Parts: sequence; structure tokens; C-alpha cells
Amino acid sequence: MFLTLKPGTTEQGIEELVKKIEELGFRAHISRGAERTVIGVIGENAIAAREVFEGFFTVELITPISKPYKLVSREFKKEDTIVKIGDVTIGGKDIVVMAGPCSVEKEDLLLSIASSVKKAGAKVLRGGAFKPRTSPYSFQGLGERGLKYLAKAKKATGLLVVTEAMNIQQVELVSRYADIIQIGARNVQNFDLLKEAGKSKKPILLKRGIATTIEEWLMSAEYIVSNGNSNVILCERGIRTFENATRFTLDLNAIPAIKAWSHLPVIVDPSHGTGVRNFVGSMSKAAIACGADGLIIEVHSDPEHALSDGRQSLLPENFASLMQELKKLARVIGRNL
Ligand code: PEP
Ligand code: MN
Repeated sequence: MFLTLKPGTTEQGIEELVKKIEELGFRAHISRGAERTVIGVIGENAIAAREVFEGFFTVELITPISKPYKLVSREFKKEDTIVKIGDVTIGGKDIVVMAGPCSVEKEDLLLSIASSVKKAGAKVLRGGAFKPRTSPYSFQGLGERGLKYLAKAKKATGLLVVTEAMNIQQVELVSRYADIIQIGARNVQNFDLLKEAGKSKKPILLKRGIATTIEEWLMSAEYIVSNGNSNVILCERGIRTFENATRFTLDLNAIPAIKAWSHLPVIVDPSHGTGVRNFVGSMSKAAIACGADGLIIEVHSDPEHALSDGRQSLLPENFASLMQELKKLARVIGRNL
């Protein structure tokens, strides 16, 4: 990182900065220009000390050289990370589709949705047992009973299961039933939860927060990886913008950006990203076309009576025909679905 000093900074001011840099275990490289002095702060992860230098009156500008995240960056690891779960691989040539209801509701309903999405080509069953709801009066999920239904559906269909853990205590519980633990948009910066997920042996599906920049999202992933779990799958699910015609604004720019800056796989959630059933197909295709490694799609056989997110849920038959179209698209861009 470079510190550009204010014009007129005295030698004493420069010395104070150099002292601080060395105190923190870095080396200082001073370059005195005609008008400005620039100090290079040299050493591993110097950017983490940015805040210290922001406090100095003599520092006008801080220019980072490396990214504030390390383990999840492309610079650190050139090859794509491929998350393997059984015979499913996420982040390689295959496009992996996860599908199912927003919430786990009745057992037989879940089983029937699971078997139809499996038949259509999904590899992972989604469904929340612990639901992060905006209103405390909305359906909060079935809890462990829901996890048990997911396990039964997995046994019956052979699908893998992804479901959300909302707090530290739920990580261990959810990992007893699920193949992938979801950390939802609202918890993307719950740092204690991220650390706990880092200790888990299960892959983590980390959703982007509704007001999280791509850099902040990658920092959240860094929490998980730096705590010991390198199996992180990112999920773009839409962000808050001024646009209110759709529930969120699906930021597909994030896909090529993640591919450039990180080696982690990234999938897209067009259901929450649009909030509109009829827009899910178009955005699924756009997501695959721009390089996403998979999709997570809400499917419900009776969306009018769904306990959450019926408005954005596809009927099983619509999901099946979308899968047919996505298969053709995948072939065109040299990927398997
Ligand atoms: C979900 O997948 O059901 C969910 C609640 O997602 P998000 O955290 O992205 O809102
Ligand atoms: Mn939902």
C-alpha cells in the first residue's frame, strides 16, 4: 500500500509515519517527489493496517496494491476451486442446479417436489428449515423437523441437500442433515457465524448480502476459508437498488467480477434476485451465459399456498422445461448440464 502525504508534510511528520510502519512490523520505502512524498508500506497483508494510517493528519491518500482478501483471491490460487460432494462437482465444467421450495413445509409435499426436480435434472434439493423472515409474524420454518424431512427426501431421491443455518448453534445441527450449509444474505457479515462455518467440514453456500459490495462479500468468504474451510460456493442473489419493479436487482456483473478476482465457484439465485416467477427463466439463462457455475431456483407444486415466496416459485413443469432450455444453452458454451 502507498501513503501519499499532504503537501508541506514536515520531516518530523514523515518520521512519525515511518516509526508507526516499523512498529507494525512493515518496512517503509520513502519516495520524495517535487511536490509530494509517497511512502510505500511493504510487508505481508499491509492493507489490513489501512485504518491505522487513515487516522494520520499527514496522510492524504491511501492506495492499496493488493486486495484486502488473500486466500480467496485469484492471485493466491490461479486454478478454479472445484467443490466436490459425492459425484457432484461445483466450479468445474458442470453446471449444477439446486431447486426446491423456499421453506420446507409438509413432508409429502417436499418429497413430491424433490422427485420432480430430480427428474428434471437438479442435483441438489433446496429448502429452508430455519427461515430468516423480515416479519416476526411470518412463518419461521419447521426447525429440526424440517431438516428431518430434507434427510428423508435425500434418501428417497439421491439428491444432495442445501439448507440454511442462521446462527452458530445451528451449524452443527444443520450439518448432521445437510450436504451444503447455506449462509443467507442477512448473515453475510455475521462474523461469528462465518468463523463457525470455517470450522465445519461441510461446504458452505455463501449468499451475497442485499447491501454488500463484491469486495465485502469476498472478505466474508475469506473469514470462512481462513478458519479452515476452503469449500465455499458464492451465490449472487440480488442487491437493493432504487429500482422497485423487481424484488431485488440481480447483479450479474458480479459473475465475471468474481471469476476475475477469486477462484471460488459462484452460482446465481434468480428467484430472490427477481422475486417474479415469470422473470426467473430469462435470468437463469443470462446467469449461465455470463459464466455462473450453477443456479438455485425455488420450485413449488402449489405456489398459491406456499408458506413463503410463492410469487417467485416455479411450478415443477415450468422448471422441467426451463431445464431443457438450459441444457441446450450449456452445450453451446461448452459446459455440461
Ligand atoms: C432463501 O434462499 O430462501 C433465502 C432466504 O435467501 P436469501 O438469504 O438470499 O434471502
Ligand atoms: Mn425464499
